[in-house]
Amino acid sequence: MAKKIRDIPSINKVLEHPEIVELIHRYSLNNVSDLVRNIVSDIRKDVLAEKLEPSLQLIVSNTKNLAEEKWNYSPVAVVNATGVLIHTNLGRSSLSASAINSMSVAAGDYTNLEYDLSHGKRGSRQNFVSTLINQLTGSEASTVVNNNASAMLLALAAISSNKEVIVSRGESVEIGGGFRIPDVLKLSNAKIVEVGTTNRTYAKDYLNAVSENTGAILVVHASNFKQTGFVHSPTITELVNIGAEKGIPVIHDLGSGCFVDTTQFGLPPEPTPKESIINGVEIAMFSGDKLLGGPQCGIIAGKKDVIEKLNRHPLYRAIRIDKVNLAGLTTTLLHYIQENHLEQIPVLKMISQTESDLRMRSIHLQKSIGKSLKVVKGYSTIGGGSMPGETLPTWLLAIPGEEKSKMIFDLLRKSNPPVITRIENDMVLLDPRTVLPKYDGVLISIISKILS
Ligand SMILES: *Cc1c(COP(=O)(O)O)cnc(C)c1O
Repeated sequence: MAKKIRDIPSINKVLEHPEIVELIHRYSLNNVSDLVRNIVSDIRKDVLAEKLEPSLQLIVSNTKNLAEEKWNYSPVAVVNATGVLIHTNLGRSSLSASAINSMSVAAGDYTNLEYDLSHGKRGSRQNFVSTLINQLTGSEASTVVNNNASAMLLALAAISSNKEVIVSRGESVEIGGGFRIPDVLKLSNAKIVEVGTTNRTYAKDYLNAVSENTGAILVVHASNFKQTGFVHSPTITELVNIGAEKGIPVIHDLGSGCFVDTTQFGLPPEPTPKESIINGVEIAMFSGDKLLGGPQCGIIAGKKDVIEKLNRHPLYRAIRIDKVNLAGLTTTLLHYIQENHLEQIPVLKMISQTESDLRMRSIHLQKSIGKSLKVVKGYSTIGGGSMPGETLPTWLLAIPGEEKSKMIFDLLRKSNPPVITRIENDMVLLDPRTVLPKYDGVLISIISKILS
């Protein structure tokens, strides 16, 4: 036993190993020697417990693995072959080439973020972007914050703090990640007044709930779940009419900021901010990184005096949009203004890919890899809490792995870059719709290698 302990290489010996020297170049002597010390002490315990033979090579490979796990970049690029377009766990929307370029400029250069170049004095980071939002949604004014969740918090805190907010029981929901409407209302100091029932709420339910303490009517778009059957909810117009009669603002949370007519892709209509504004809501709010296809942000569009109130609220500063996302957003909005959004914005390009194009892509992958791959009909989904239950027809590349499916699925996930897939009916399925075309070649070599 004593001999085995003596056989454990010294820290210095480990630090002189060529592979560790290379690691030190990358991660610094301090970091690597801390790691080696911890690993050697763990190994010493295992050797004492007679679970392990002392080995220099084991220490070196453990150190390398742990260093890479701890200090490599994250997030890393992954290939999204899941067929879920706005995959929240995989970072939601991929941005257009020009949006990426403007984000890189904003990150690396000084910019006129809050500097008025025509007058040589302090400006506002909202001026340029809000002009674009107003043009696209028909709003009087608009402002952008960190995400839609914070937009909702700001709106409620500024408009209805210490007042009652009327919400349908069918819309007092959880958006995701524990973000629940009743909790947001509590956090913004508003008192929730729930009306109607889970499945049916009428305009008169709202009307009956109005009191002298009512601060707002809140409408939350059911974005991540679907009610069918015996259901009813009033139209936005009905609620706006009640609001106008009683002097109460209507706040509309649309979830996914959709700027296109989704019926052109065979999908059901998704409410747009423009319709909401035309219908007369006080403010409409939505995410920038769902169907809009931009970076993470929350956009609030509506009446001028309310937007000014939001911009002056102390919470605004705590949740304001950063310069990099702002640059990505303005460039994304410019695509809609230049009417090249369907060609330039990846999420819209993915949605509008035709079945025959997808079939050709899958067949190309199948032919290039050979083996016993199949091309089967399947369905892509929108995701990101948008359009629950709705699908787009696609053609999947299927690896009939049988009992090895789980292993193939894991190997794909552990490859470089990681490929994220799904398993159905003992087959590993890859949907080309969500795979950025630049990865087709990479996919071919990764799958070929795994199957050989
Ligand atoms: C997604 C969503 C939110 C939250 O938006 P984030 O941008 O993720 O903060 C809020 N409300 C609705 C209805 C949503 O669908």
